Amino acid sequence: MAVPKKKVSPSRRNMRRSHEALRAEAHAECPNCGELKRPHHVCPSCGYYDGREVAPAGKRLKVVVRT
Ligand SMILES: [Zn+2]
Repeated sequence: MAVPKKKVSPSRRNMRRSHEALRAEAHAECPNCGELKRPHHVCPSCGYYDGREVAPAGKRLKVVVRT
């Protein structure tokens, strides 16, 4: 097993972790109901995508949309 030669200093450890912050999840307003939804996804509150209803409203589901 590969073993680190030297202990990583707190400074180097923290420099490495400076890139590990989580970014805010992308969101967009649904043009049908105005609820916030993920872009390029079926709206979880009204079930609309690209101007038409593709899934029953109110249900959170994983749906593949072909248009
Ligand atoms: Zn919606």
